[in-house]
Order: sequence, then C-alpha cells, then structure tokens
Amino acid sequence: MRIDVVTIFPGYLDALDLSLVGKARRDGLLDLRVHDLRDWTTDRHRTVDDTPFGGGAGMVMRPDVWGRALDDVLGRTGGGDPAGRQVLLVPTPSGERLTQRTVEDLATVDQLVLACGRYEGIDARVAEHYADAGVEVREFSLGDYVLNGGEVAALVVVEAVARLLPGVVGNPQSLVEESHGAAGLLEYPVYTKPPAWAGREVPEILLSGHHGNIARWRRDLALERTAERRPDMVGTLDPADLDRRDRAV
Ligand code: SAM
Repeated sequence: MRIDVVTIFPGYLDALDLSLVGKARRDGLLDLRVHDLRDWTTDRHRTVDDTPFGGGAGMVMRPDVWGRALDDVLGRTGGGDPAGRQVLLVPTPSGERLTQRTVEDLATVDQLVLACGRYEGIDARVAEHYADAGVEVREFSLGDYVLNGGEVAALVVVEAVARLLPGVVGNPQSLVEESHGAAGLLEYPVYTKPPAWAGREVPEILLSGHHGNIARWRRDLALERTAERRPDMVGTLDPADLDRRDRAV
C-alpha cells in the first residue's frame, strides 16, 4: 500500500520511521512518502496561505498550491489513468469522526493521500475539485477538539491503517479481540507478571489454566466495561450477534 502525506512540516512525520510502522516501511510492506507542500509554491517566499475572503481571523491555505501538489501526488499530471483505488483524506474538525470501521476500509485502498491543513484550514474548493474529478475524498475528524494542524491526524491514520496491513503486527491474533473490533466491545482488562503488585492480585481465574472459564470471564468483563464506559456503543450492538458470541464462549 502507498500512503502520501503532504504537509508544511515534514519533520512532524519523522516518528513514522520508528516501531512497527518504521519496520513495515523497511520491509517494503508500506510505501510511505512525506512531501513538503512548499515544494509546489512558485514565489520566493514559498507562500502557502493568504487572507480569507469575507474577512475574519487567521489565514487560509491556497487552492492553487494544494492543486499542484495533489495533482502530482495523485498522478494526475501526466494524463494517464491512476492505478487502483485512491482516497484523498482531509483532516478537519468539521469532518466525519474517524472510526475503526473507516480505518478497516482505508486499509484496503491502493493509495491514501493525506492533506494536512494548518492555519484556518484548506480552501474549500480543493476537496470539491478532487471529488468532482472522481477522487474519493473523505474529510475526517479525530474528535471534538481543535488541533493546530493535520499532522497529528496523519500520524493517527498511518498508524491505525498500517497495523492492519498483512505482516505488520507480528501476531495477527492480537488484532482479533481488540477494542472496537468485530465484537463491538471494549477489550477486557489485561495483566502480566508479577501476580501480586502493590497489594493487588491478578484475578485468580487467570491463573487457573481453565481456558473456557477465562474466555467467559473476559467476555463478561468486556461487556461490563463497555456498558460502564461507553453506553453509546452498547446501543449499536446486535442482540443476535451478542447471543451467538455468548454461546461460542
Ligand atoms: N478553523 C478550523 C475550524 O474551526 O474548523 C480549524 C483549523 S485547525 C486550527 C488547522 C488544521 O488542523 C485543520 O485544517 C486540520 O487539518 C487540523 N485539525 C484540527 N483539529 C482537528 C481534528 N479534530 N481532527 C482532524 N484534524 C484537525
């Protein structure tokens, strides 16, 4: 899979050389390219922003600079047909909330392009233009708060998508029982050695070696935790699926 990140702060993405994502890049599982938006400016100050039409505070990122950058990165300058499914992701606090379902879908795409906004964001015509040109455009939000720029959102997407690519996470079983996975529940609490720490014991059942009882306990705790911490998620659970999964443990 190829992921392109376009930003005025390429150094922000240096962390993607580390850990599992860094290894995935070195192993050739992920082709990640970080671009400096200023490489597509044409003036000697390398300007990417200007004042907002209609007035108001702050600056807005110019559509002409973004257009040149995205045409290049999406391979739309040569006139040829781009290969495979391309998605242009635009982080914005006014976008649709990013979820694990979206991330699972993004992990099946051939090329993801992340356009990191700064200041008051990117001129609205950019997203419209690429959607009209047939690119799948998704404006997404990390949550109901405002960051200074889209780079953190790009880091989040790259990490969340990359760990779903085959071969990136060493044991694929780790992806099965996670929070926000197929069961629609938060994960049960986890413990490791030592069995007693700071006066607290690991729940006895986990030391019993009885796999059936452990699975039942974990399922109960996952349900309890979800009901307590995320009642909004409980409302979306399918009772038939819950029954089926309950019978399976
Ligand atoms: N004026 C914009 C608004 O109120 O919607 C906020 C712009 S914000 C200061 C600058 C950039 O940060 C945005 O263009 C976007 O790329 C990024 N950003 C800020 N908050 C975000 C969030 N919750 N999710 C995703 N991206 C965000």
